[in-house]
Amino acid sequence: MQDYLKELNERQREAVLHIKGPLMIVAGAGSGKTKVLTTRIAHLMNSGVDAFNILALTFTNKAAKEMKERIEKILGNSEARNLYVGTFHSVFARILRAEAHHLGYPNNFTIYDTDDAKSVVKTVVNEMNLDDKTYKPSTVYNRISSAKNALVGPVEYANDYALQQEDLRGNRPAIAQIYDAYVKRCFKNGAMDFDDLLLKFYELLKGFPESLSKYQRKFKYILIDEYQDTNPAQYEIIKLLGAMNENVCVVGDDAQSIYSFRGATIQNILQFQKDYEDAHVVMLEQNYRSSKSILNVANEVIKNNKGQIPKSLWTDNKDGEKIRLVRTMTDNDEGKYVADSIQEQKLRNHYNNRDFAILYRTNAQSRAFEEALRRMNIAYTIFGGQSFYTRKEIKDFVAYLRIIINSKDEEALKRIINFPARGIGKTTVDKAVLAANTHNISMWEVLERAREFGFKAGTLEAIDNFVVMIKSFASMLQNKNAYEVAVHVGKQTNIVKELFNDKSTEGVARYENIQELLNSIKEWVDTQQNLSQIDEDGTMIETSDNEAVSTGEITLGAYLQQITLLTDADDKDPNADTVKLMTIHAAKGLEFGCVFAAGLEEMLFPNGMAVNTREELEEERRLFYVVITRAKQRLWITYANTRYRFGSLVQNEPSRFIDELPEEYLDRSYAGAAAFKNQGFGARGNTNAFDRMNGGGWGAGGGGRQSAADAEKRYGAPPSKKPAIPSYVTPKPQSKPV
Ligand code: ATP
Ligand code: MG
Repeated sequence: MQDYLKELNERQREAVLHIKGPLMIVAGAGSGKTKVLTTRIAHLMNSGVDAFNILALTFTNKAAKEMKERIEKILGNSEARNLYVGTFHSVFARILRAEAHHLGYPNNFTIYDTDDAKSVVKTVVNEMNLDDKTYKPSTVYNRISSAKNALVGPVEYANDYALQQEDLRGNRPAIAQIYDAYVKRCFKNGAMDFDDLLLKFYELLKGFPESLSKYQRKFKYILIDEYQDTNPAQYEIIKLLGAMNENVCVVGDDAQSIYSFRGATIQNILQFQKDYEDAHVVMLEQNYRSSKSILNVANEVIKNNKGQIPKSLWTDNKDGEKIRLVRTMTDNDEGKYVADSIQEQKLRNHYNNRDFAILYRTNAQSRAFEEALRRMNIAYTIFGGQSFYTRKEIKDFVAYLRIIINSKDEEALKRIINFPARGIGKTTVDKAVLAANTHNISMWEVLERAREFGFKAGTLEAIDNFVVMIKSFASMLQNKNAYEVAVHVGKQTNIVKELFNDKSTEGVARYENIQELLNSIKEWVDTQQNLSQIDEDGTMIETSDNEAVSTGEITLGAYLQQITLLTDADDKDPNADTVKLMTIHAAKGLEFGCVFAAGLEEMLFPNGMAVNTREELEEERRLFYVVITRAKQRLWITYANTRYRFGSLVQNEPSRFIDELPEEYLDRSYAGAAAFKNQGFGARGNTNAFDRMNGGGWGAGGGGRQSAADAEKRYGAPPSKKPAIPSYVTPKPQSKPV
C-alpha cells in the first residue's frame, strides 16, 4: 500500500480509492475531509489520470495553493502544477479568457472588483436621474449580486413578484431597471464583475453545446471542497460540467454552512443524492484536530440546531484543558486579556506566535486586539483588510495598464484621464460619457474622434496628447514585455516622479507601494516565461481567430486578471510567525493550536442583524460551531460588558450561546478592568494615539506582515514598563455566566 494511503483511516481510504462515479463525503469538522480530497487527487494522478483532466475547486486561493503543494509532496514531482485547482472565480475567469468571444465579450475583458462595480452602479443611477441616496450603490450592487448568484437575470428580476415586492417595500422600485442598465454598461465596457465570472460561465455552458462538451471532456474528474457553501450558480455549473463523466466528488459539512446570506444553500448537499442516483456516500466520524473537551463542547452546541444531518463525531485525542470562559469589563480589556494570555502561553507552554488565532464576528473588533498586541510587542497578521491591489495609488496606476489591454474599460479611463492632472476636467469627462452613450460607442472612441464632438481647442489638445500617449503604450507592448511597459508608463506619466518628490509619510508609502507593484509585475513576467510551455494542451491561451495578440499582451492581461481576484489573505505569508487575526468566516477550513473566540455578546454574536428567524439564528450557531472547531489544543471564549460600537458605548448581555456550553468542560475566569490597574495600561481615552488603524498588512515597506517593530515605527514606542503575567481572579463555578 502506498504511504499516503497508510496515513488514512478505513473510511477515508474508502473515499480515496473510490475513483469512478459520484461521491459525497459529509462529515463534521476536523474529520479529514480536505485531507481526503487532497489525497484523492494525488491518488487519481498516481493511478494514471492526467493532471490536465482534474478540476478541484476550493474556497480560497490560499487553500488551492496549499492543496497543490501537498500533492507535490505526496507524489514527489511537479505534475500538480498542471491541475486546475483554484476558487470557482479564478478557474472560471481563466476559462472565460479563452471563451469570452462566444458571449460577445473581448477575450481580454476586464474584471471589475466591487469598487469598480459600485462605481458603475453609481454612474447608471445618476444617468437615470435617480437619487443615489435612495439607490445607494452598495445596496443596489448587493441586490444585483444576489440575483446573479441565483441565476436571476434583469428580465427575470423584473418579472419576479417577490423581488418586486421587496424593492417596493424598500422604496426602491427601479432596481430592476438599474440592473438592466448596469449589465448593459458592463458589457459595453468589456467588463465582467465577480458574479459574472460564474454567471457568464454558466451561460457559456448552457448556450454553447460545443463549449460544454469541450469542458466536460476536459474535466473528467471534478472535486469540490466546502460544498455546503456553494450557491445556485456554482451548483448548476458543477451539474453541467459533471453530467458526462459523473466523476464528481464533493465534501462538506452541513453544520458549517455559513454563507446563506450570500445565497449558498445546504440543499445542495441534500440534493446530491437525488441528482446522482448511484452516488456513493461516505461519512467520516473521527475528528483528528481537537481535544476531547473542545470537540465535546462543539458537539453540544450544534445539537441546539434543528435542521442537521445527524452525525456523531468522536476523537482519540487527549481530554485537553477545559475551555476558558472569560468576561472582561470592556472591549479594550478583552484585547489586553488576550494579549496577556498569549504571552503567558508562550512562556509556559512554549508556543510560537503562529500557534494563536484571534477570531471574531466582525472586522471592526480587531482594533482592541491590535492595540494590545502592539503594546506587548507580539507580531501579528490581520486578515480582512484591504488587498494591496485595491489601494488607491495602485488602482490608479493599474488603470493605465487596464486601458492598454481593454480600451473599452470606461471605469479605468475615468480614473486616469486627468490623473496626473492634464487639464481634462469633469465637464469634459461628462461630455465624453454623454457622447459615448448617445452614439453607442466607447468613451475611448469618443476621445479618439474628439474633433467630431465639439470640444474646445485647448481641451482638444489635451485629449489628443492623452490618446497619443496611451496608444504609444499599447504599441510598445507589441515588442516589450509587460514589466518594461509598466516601468515606461510610470516614467512617461510622471506618476513615479511625483510620488518620489512627495516626502510626506503617506507619499513615501505610496511610492514604495508603486515600486512593490512593479516588482510584482516583474515577478509575474519571469514566472510566466518559465511556465510558457505548460499550456500545451492548448485549451487555455487561445484567443479568437481575428485577434492578433502579442505575448506581452497575454502576460499583462493574465496579470491584471489574477490581481483582481487576489484577496488580502493572498498578500500574506501564511507561515510567518505571527498571531493571526481574522473573522470566523475567513477562518473556515483552518486550524490553530490555540484559539480565542472573541466578543460572545448578544447583538454582536449572534449578530443583531441575524436573530429574527430560526434560520438566521441557526446560521449564527453554525458560525459558533466553526470557531470552536478551529482549535486543536486550547480554546478561550471571551466577552465584554461594554464596548464601543458605531461610535458609542454599549452595554452587552452575554451571548445566548454561552448558556449552551456544557458546564463540565468550562473553566470560568474573570478578568475585568481592575485586573489591569497597576500594569501601565491606560484606561480608554489614553489610547487615542493607537487608534489610527491600518487595515491591511502592507505598511510602508510592504511585506504583508505587521510586526511589533513596524507598528512601533508608525505608532511610537510601547509603554516602557512591560506588564508582568497577570494572575486572573477565578471565581467559583456558577450555574450561570456572570
Ligand atoms: P474542516 O471541516 O474544518 O474543513 P476537515 O474535515 O477538512 O475539517 P482536515 O482539515 O482535512 O479536516 O483535517 C483536520 C486535521 O486532522 C488535519 O491536521 C489533518 O492533517 C488531520 N488528519 C486528518 N485525517 C487524519 C488521519 N487519518 N490521521 C492523522 N491525522 C489526520
Ligand atoms: Mg476542510
